[in-house]
Amino acid sequence: MTERCDVLVVGAGPAGSSTAHRLAAAGARVVMIDRARFPRDKPCGGGVTTRGLGLVPADITPVVERTVHRVDLRLGYDRPVLPITSDVAMVHMTQRRRLDAHLAEAAVARGVDFRDGVRLRALRHHDAGVTATTDAGDVTARVVVVADGANGAGRAALGVPEPAFAVALEGNLPRGTGGFDDRAFTDTAALVFGTVPGGYAWIFPKGDHVNLGVGGYLHEGPRLREHLDALCRAHAADPAALEAVRGYRLPIRRPGTAVAVGACVLVGDAAGLVDPFSGDGMYEAFMSSAIAAREIAAYLGGQAADLSAYPAALGTALGAHRAGAWLGKLTTERSPALTQRILTPGWVRRGIASRMCHGGTPPSAPVSTLAVAVGRAARRALGPAAA
Ligand SMILES: Cc1cc2nc3c(=O)[nH]c(=O)nc-3n(C[C@H](O)[C@H](O)[C@H](O)COP(=O)(O)OP(=O)(O)OC[C@H]3O[C@@H](n4cnc5c(N)ncnc54)[C@H](O)[C@@H]3O)c2cc1C
Repeated sequence: MTERCDVLVVGAGPAGSSTAHRLAAAGARVVMIDRARFPRDKPCGGGVTTRGLGLVPADITPVVERTVHRVDLRLGYDRPVLPITSDVAMVHMTQRRRLDAHLAEAAVARGVDFRDGVRLRALRHHDAGVTATTDAGDVTARVVVVADGANGAGRAALGVPEPAFAVALEGNLPRGTGGFDDRAFTDTAALVFGTVPGGYAWIFPKGDHVNLGVGGYLHEGPRLREHLDALCRAHAADPAALEAVRGYRLPIRRPGTAVAVGACVLVGDAAGLVDPFSGDGMYEAFMSSAIAAREIAAYLGGQAADLSAYPAALGTALGAHRAGAWLGKLTTERSPALTQRILTPGWVRRGIASRMCHGGTPPSAPVSTLAVAVGRAARRALGPAAA
């Protein structure tokens, strides 16, 4: 017997739980599966920007350990600090084990039927919708939301080509260990560009520890541990004191890659939505989830004939942001000295702070073709490692 529901959500990370939550709140019968047993961890800095927070359908205050009001930006370990400050919190620091369990619980409280420890194996379209083969039996849904992250099975099952990948490595330093002076990292985070090709190094404050990480081009993978050790040493910390060091891939969508196939939509990392400059993916996960839920609800309710509005709406919401990210990445990589000059006036950094704090509703103004062209040109100019 095949089980039936309105929507099957595959993957219970931020993208999946948020989409499931919104659709259950709109009255849909939603089943959500995840191959992992919850609570589970996910390699991540765990920083949710205020811009992203405005798109979360649940109150995450109970799992926020620190709020960041200051980001110390540098363009090399030996360059001066460019502080970005804000009266309003810019980033909300959590741990993914806690955040994802919290979001899944909030979705369940809204009526989502969540089954952890269940893996998607295959997807098959037919007249009645889509049947998902899982290792706990078949589920037929009118719509399937593919939210299974960078390494999931949904993208391949739908024939969607692989995105480009970046890679990151992170670890935790318990406060008071490794010789690290963590007193500066209560409501302050640090970002150091110009250290890892194609990325940067970070220090994020958490409750009982600080999170240190590095990310960059995929080909930097074998050197990431060296980069992480260099970050530690630049802050007089013993690299050997780092705990729970682990890495993961960051998927970066290629232009024109499908984010909807028939009655299936891809959200978050499964759609390759990680910001190519900041490496953040949770804002994009929450944004794609909000748009996907809106379009799916319209389809289930008969106001839309299909899900074809989703790709364009996603492009409208994230297109300008993404173009700016490629341009920022190109400028930072090719000329740290120019970037230093651009960021020196206080009003530029106040603008960045304001952008990190502004959000809540998907933008509706179409992205200009000029912005899209500039973003693509910047990506091409970065060469094959960014393609
Ligand atoms: C080291 C590192 C640091 C980062 N730091 C930040 C940060 O500070 N801030 C930020 O915004 N972003 C950060 N990111 C990016 C962020 O972690 C991702 O963009 C985010 O997790 C995407 O959420 P998601 O829900 O799309 O996917 P995920 O969180 O990856 O969730 C996917 C879920 O799908 C499940 N799954 C996979 N395959 C299957 C299957 N076959 N069947 C069923 N379930 C399946 C997985 O178990 C998982 O639970 C970082 C990434 C890395 C690697």
